[in-house]
Amino acid sequence: MCIYCGSGLEPGKGESRRDFLKTTMLVGAAAAASGFIASAAHAQEAPAGTGAEGRRVLIRGGHVLSMDPAVGDFEKADVLVNGRLIEAVGPNLDASGAEIIEAAGLVVMPGFIDTHHHQFETALRSFLADGILVNDGVPANAINYYEYILQKFSMVYRPEDVYINELFGSLAQLDAGVTTVMDVSQIHHSPEHSDAVVQALKDAGRRSVFGYFEGWGDKAKYPDDARRLKSTHFSSDDQLLTMVMGGEIYIPGYENSWKIGRELAIPVALHVVGTFGMRPTFDQLAEAGMFGPDNIFIHMTGMSDMAWKKAADAGSHVSLAVPIEMQMRHGMPPIQKALDLGMQPSLSSDVECTMTADPFTQMRSAMTLQRAFVNERALAGEKDLPALLTSRDVIRFATLEGAKGLKLDRKTGSLTPGKEADIVLLDAGAINVTPLNHVPGAVVTLMERSNVDTVMVAGKVRKWKGKLLDADIARLRGELEASRDYLFQAAGVPRDLFRA
Ligand SMILES: [Zn+2]
Repeated sequence: MCIYCGSGLEPGKGESRRDFLKTTMLVGAAAAASGFIASAAHAQEAPAGTGAEGRRVLIRGGHVLSMDPAVGDFEKADVLVNGRLIEAVGPNLDASGAEIIEAAGLVVMPGFIDTHHHQFETALRSFLADGILVNDGVPANAINYYEYILQKFSMVYRPEDVYINELFGSLAQLDAGVTTVMDVSQIHHSPEHSDAVVQALKDAGRRSVFGYFEGWGDKAKYPDDARRLKSTHFSSDDQLLTMVMGGEIYIPGYENSWKIGRELAIPVALHVVGTFGMRPTFDQLAEAGMFGPDNIFIHMTGMSDMAWKKAADAGSHVSLAVPIEMQMRHGMPPIQKALDLGMQPSLSSDVECTMTADPFTQMRSAMTLQRAFVNERALAGEKDLPALLTSRDVIRFATLEGAKGLKLDRKTGSLTPGKEADIVLLDAGAINVTPLNHVPGAVVTLMERSNVDTVMVAGKVRKWKGKLLDADIARLRGELEASRDYLFQAAGVPRDLFRA
């Protein structure tokens, strides 16, 4: 008899009626628990008007991983959303009048946060899958990030390329459960380019930090245009978009960018990469006492102990792009370095020209790399070792620590009443996850983007039962491909799907 549909055997023929009923009941229960049979919840239409003032939605009966110790976790509980905000978290909430989202068999947790993603490169996805950061003279590495992505492709972007790349990258990551991003747009060749970034981030409807980094050419107005951008687009704090100032220390005059960022009272973010020869300048800034709690340092590979100590003492934040750092020769991801100094890093995807931007890859990479180092030391007989990272640790890096790093933890990063409702529902009954035996473990060690069932940003449902809402992906894909065709042609780079 088929264990999924119960067919192939008539009751009473070779099996007692009682046995048949027992088997059928067992099959039914097992199938329902594992998500193989569509539940009533899966037939439910996407609730309309979510996120609007006074609109109440009850996410009912999920496995709640709040990431807030004061709230705790629940094997089975509800999350009540009122308009943009989380109103309550707990079992059996009284929510008369609220629309119900059935969450049985789903993990309910805060949306993921990516603290460094160059979304303008979406049309270049996988172009540099085998590439490293800079030219090392080895023929196999002739196609590298600096000479191709930055010096060839990025130079030819038009505002319309910026827009579609940013929008598509943003929607794709929303689909993967990333409800907040810091977009590092090093593409500000003119104020029109900058406005295109902002418009795309707005149109994506995701919580986004506009990272105002550099641009090149005669029309570039970086960094001074930061004042116009801030007053035009970011005058209110009560919106999904906020702004961060890019302050790359490899760009002459970076001191002015830092000054403008601090004048505007927004965080100052920068790449800190040993491979790029940044260590002397970074040391000077450290010694001059220039680091602050408003700094976001990306990668932090190959830096001195002194600079690390100053960054920790200043309360600066570190964003680690672990798979990219390993893949592209940034230097070893300094996970343990940060932890030893009491710094809690966030995770970031960096560039999709070389690696996927899904949060599960980030979490698994950080966890397995740190454990590989500690395990190797344990096997060598060393004592008093650092604690092994747990699945809960890396979920925290990918949620709450990201929110803290971006100065958004009053709004997002955990399921805390009063915060905005950035929530993901992950399918724990899916074929790659069931049966559920440990919630954080299942999220980190088993799940991937196909398990992202439903996504809510500031109370508004943006993905419902596996499908992104309010996005014509077929049309946008066409626009992205057209942009891709233009970029390759204008940059003079042949598109070879099987390049060696
Ligand atoms: Zn980067």
